[in-house]
Amino acid sequence: MQLSKYTLFANDYPNPGEHLVYHTRTQALLKIDQTLRDVLTSIDRTGFTTETQYEQHLKDLYRMGILVRDEVDDRERLERFMEQKKWGINESLFHATILTTYNCNFACTYCFEESTRTSSQKLDFSTSDLIIDWLQRKIQKLGVRALELNYYGGEPLLNQPVMEYISSRMKNWCDSRRIKFKMSLQSNGALLTPEFVDRYRPLGLVGAQVSMDGTKEVHDRNRPMRGSGRGTFDIIIQNLLAVADKIKITIACGYDKGDPSGILELLDYLEEIGLLKKLKGFTYSPIHPTLGSKGHAEQIVSPGCMSNYETESLLSGQKKIKEAMEKKGMFVKSGLSVSMCPVTTGDNSVTIDTQGLIFKCNAMLGHPDLAVGSIYEEEYNERQRSFMEADAWKKCDSDCPYVPLCNTGCRLFSFFKSGDFSAKSCERSYMDKFVVEAIKKEYENQIAQKKKQTPRTQEVLV
Ligand code: SF4
Ligand code: SF4
Repeated sequence: MQLSKYTLFANDYPNPGEHLVYHTRTQALLKIDQTLRDVLTSIDRTGFTTETQYEQHLKDLYRMGILVRDEVDDRERLERFMEQKKWGINESLFHATILTTYNCNFACTYCFEESTRTSSQKLDFSTSDLIIDWLQRKIQKLGVRALELNYYGGEPLLNQPVMEYISSRMKNWCDSRRIKFKMSLQSNGALLTPEFVDRYRPLGLVGAQVSMDGTKEVHDRNRPMRGSGRGTFDIIIQNLLAVADKIKITIACGYDKGDPSGILELLDYLEEIGLLKKLKGFTYSPIHPTLGSKGHAEQIVSPGCMSNYETESLLSGQKKIKEAMEKKGMFVKSGLSVSMCPVTTGDNSVTIDTQGLIFKCNAMLGHPDLAVGSIYEEEYNERQRSFMEADAWKKCDSDCPYVPLCNTGCRLFSFFKSGDFSAKSCERSYMDKFVVEAIKKEYENQIAQKKKQTPRTQEVLV
């Protein structure tokens, strides 16, 4: 018996002589005392313990993956887990992002789609019919019990007729088969009026993610209206105040790397006008430069949907944002979770563009050579096979405990750095700094959650 190499400790936390144990594959998180900590150290060194009173604990720790028989056992469990994550179908939900148009009414200074606009930018009704047919075949084939459509652009609200058409047909189809249906959208917020929301709620609209760039001054400079160059901050705020009680609103805020002051001021402002407490979520990510031009995908700098490639220079900015959010009573995630880049995983999520091309990553939109298939073919293509066979985590350091959390990061980021989607994209020193703090934060979040559920419990063990 020995400790799994995916076991991590946050020592002397929450109090001296108490320790947190966390397993990156199983996500097990426990608080243990000093004696059990010493037992685990001894087992790891000698393979056994004479402390028989811990027999049941040790069985539990084995079940949780924290203890393993030997290195081979540890590796086999990891390999089974990675295969399951890669190919496993989650029958509870199919998620499809549909691009209604590449057009946008904003002219954001850093837009990663700016260079990919083509003459055929809008989704038309005949392609919408084929998307509907494809979705219905896919859902039936997978036996999925819920569908979530997410409209994306450009600015998706610039092409509302197809949104209405696809949503009403898919909602009726799902309703008649007892498949749950809902829709959401990612929007710049300028057209997200209460009239729009009232019209689309009966079609399943439950939420919207709206992009902002900090306070009025910065936002208006970065995200002006196309053509007039007018600022867009005021109209977005006006719309959000009017719809935040009707649907779930998340603000996704961009900020300049290393300088989170815009976000901090925006949080203050949102609190002042009473909008902050009505939000479902508030996310933040550094603004990256733009995508390479068409045919030059190698120049992509991903906006990224996994955070584990972030470099140390972002840590202090992130810390300040988290502290500000906590001060305002907002829930801050620990960031500790198993993550796998969606382009390397199976079939529960796709993005479909205006031409019916299928992508696994929104940041690859506009680059047909990165599409994994199309609605005109039943099977995915060679690109998909190469993504699925990349298994980049097998190139990771054999002693690295972060493989299930990091999975060697964002495939697009690897491509950007090395021209190879299957290359390792390693930020291990960042993980060394981030993960122990994240374990502590996850513990605090779980304790707070349990206290909410069991208010009279004095001592809560995880
Ligand atoms: S390559 Fe993967 S992790 Fe990177 S942005 Fe695309 S989907 Fe997200
Ligand atoms: S990319 Fe680096 S940090 Fe991530 S799992 Fe591999 S070796 Fe570890």
